[in-house]
This record gives sequence, C-alpha cells and structure tokens, in this order.
Amino acid sequence: MKIETLAVHAGHTIDPATGAVSAPIHLSTTFERDIEGTYSRGFMYTRNNNPNREALERGVSMLEAGETAAAFGSGTAAAMALFQALAPGDHVLAHVDAYYGTSRLLREIFLRWGLEADFVDMSNLEEVKRALRPQTKLAWAETPSNPLLKIADLAAVAEIAHTTGAFCVCDNTWAPVLQRPFDLGADLVLHSTTKYFGGHCDVAGGIVVAKKENEFFQRVRAIQYSGGAVPSPFDCWLILRGMRTLPWRMRAHSENGMKVAEFLAQRRKIESVHYPGLRSHPGHEIARRQMSMFGGMLSFQVKDGRDAAMSVAAKTKIFTRATSLGGVESLIEHRASIEGPGTTSPENLLRLSIGLENSEDLIEDLDQALV
Ligand code: PLP
Repeated sequence: MKIETLAVHAGHTIDPATGAVSAPIHLSTTFERDIEGTYSRGFMYTRNNNPNREALERGVSMLEAGETAAAFGSGTAAAMALFQALAPGDHVLAHVDAYYGTSRLLREIFLRWGLEADFVDMSNLEEVKRALRPQTKLAWAETPSNPLLKIADLAAVAEIAHTTGAFCVCDNTWAPVLQRPFDLGADLVLHSTTKYFGGHCDVAGGIVVAKKENEFFQRVRAIQYSGGAVPSPFDCWLILRGMRTLPWRMRAHSENGMKVAEFLAQRRKIESVHYPGLRSHPGHEIARRQMSMFGGMLSFQVKDGRDAAMSVAAKTKIFTRATSLGGVESLIEHRASIEGPGTTSPENLLRLSIGLENSEDLIEDLDQALV
C-alpha cells in the first residue's frame, strides 16, 4: 500500500462488536480474566496494554515500515525510555542542534546515571567519526534539526554508528512521511506525536518504532509498562485519528513552508533563512536525496539582534507567539528565550511552524511584521 492509504487504514478495524467504523475508546483500566486465569483476549491492565494503544502502535509501525512500536505520554518520555534502556558506561553520540529537551535529558539526568555523551554537529560526518567510541551504543540523529534545520546524512550516520555495533535513532518528529529513516539505515525512529501526528495542538504523545523486535527494543517495551509513562486511551485515539490525514497535511505544510522560506530569503531585514528546501542551504543536496519534500519548519535570523527579532514576533497577527509545532495554525517563537540558560540558539533567531493557512496570508503577515 502507498503511504496515503496506509495512513488512513493502518491500525484501524471495523469494531467487531458493533460495526462502528470509527474505533471505540476503551477507557476500562482492567480487563476480564478467563476462567482458567489467562487473558486470551490479550489485555490485562491498561498500563501494560490497551486496545487503543495497541492500535496506535500497530498503525505507526506500519506507516514507518518497522516491526514494532511503543507509545508514550510524550516525545520526551519516549526519548527517556531509549536512554533508560542503556546501561551505565554506555556512550551516546548526540546532535549538538537536537531538540533542547533531549540534550537536557542527557546532560541533566543521564550523565548522573552513568551514561556518557558527546554532542557533535551531525551534519559534519568527520565530527561524527571522531566522536565515535567502542562504547557508543546510540547515535542520535535529529534531521532536520531543531532549531537550525541542519541536515544529517542519515545513511552515512547509520553506517558510521554500525561500525561499533551502535544503534542509529532518528528523531523524525519534523519530517514524518517525508523521510523514511528505516530505508536509510536507521534502527529506531522516534516521534513526538504531540506535533504533526496529532496535528492540532491538542494532544501530547511520543512513540519509539523499531525496525526489528530485538533485545534492546524489548527493554524499551519493559520500561514502557513498568515505568508507566503511557498515553491515555483517548490520547492514543486522537493521535491515530491525526495520522489518517498526515501525508496530505505534510504535503501542504511543505508547500507553504517552501513559499514562506522563498519570501523570507528575499527580505533585506533578514540575515539568514534556515530551510533545507532552499538551494542556498548547505544540506540541500542531502535533503533532496533523503526527503520527498522539505517540511513546514523553518527558522530565520533577523538583522540587528534580539530586540529586532522580538519586535517582529510581536507584530505578527496570524502567527501566534507560542512554542511547539506541527499544528494547523502557524506559530512563531523566539527560541533562545524559551530554551533558557545554556541555549545554543542565536539570540536573533525566530522559529516558524508553518500551518495550513493560505500561504499568501502568511507571507502578508510576515511582510507587515518585518517593516
Ligand atoms: N523531538 C523534537 C524534534 C521536538 O521538537 C520535541 C518537542 O518540541 C520533542 C522531541 C519532545 O516532544 P514532547 O514535547 O512531546 O515531549
């Protein structure tokens, strides 16, 4: 099946009890045992498993062409489970421009637990090679990266990671559907489903998809149900519903993203635009190879520093000043101030999540804000 068909049907079945076309939400926390004490219907207790979570995990693994998946209450909880599945002394090779919360997890929690980590610019393969150690167990590639939209060559990073037997994880939150990490050699895919999967800024979630159901993934699964950072049945239902329109939304986000990036690239008040669809982007050629379109996320740096950037954000009328991304509404964000102390984001940088409004309205809004 093609991706649009998979997105509509994967994880969905007609409810055998009622014929309902839209799946019921199973709020029950506990499930009946058989007379002989077993659970032949597959469900025991909702933290361990739940029909809506099972459907979501099946749906997303089919969409990513993985063997299995584990859903969590947020993208961060999913990342946390991957780090918890490692052992003290294991080394993580991470992207210096990865989502700030992921870097913070490593720095503030897991270094104290005995993991080791190096943060390198993954768009530079020489840096990746140099930082690889015999103890490296996980290479964390986020591409496009947050917030500078650097492009890592996923196939090359995975190949380097595999030389020491490390797994390559791709945080695919910014490019679901557009990028197929398992085809490029990644072993694990992570999504913050809070973003494009949910698609409407009204549900939080995360998921780890594994190419193979191996021992490492089984540890992730055990952390999911023993640790209990699981999404509610309603949240699973919303995310799986969001997935049905995901390929079409990603197409529209990308078309709008490209038009807005081209507009910004012409403006004199702007120092630089970070969007992999622009020919001037240093990762453009790699992005063209590994992405079908370039997505709805971009960032730009305003001339004259932080105050000038803040004043652009203050003047927009259609763009809402808010964090997060991937919803139908466009958002604008001064990234350094949301990340706080230790941020590596330039002070004059604004990040845009391009929504599904008409691109002409978005461009007009930015045009008047940039005066
Ligand atoms: N990964 C990326 C690329 C993100 O942008 C985010 C959040 O912005 C996360 C992970 C974390 O997801 P959540 O906010 O659902 O915990």
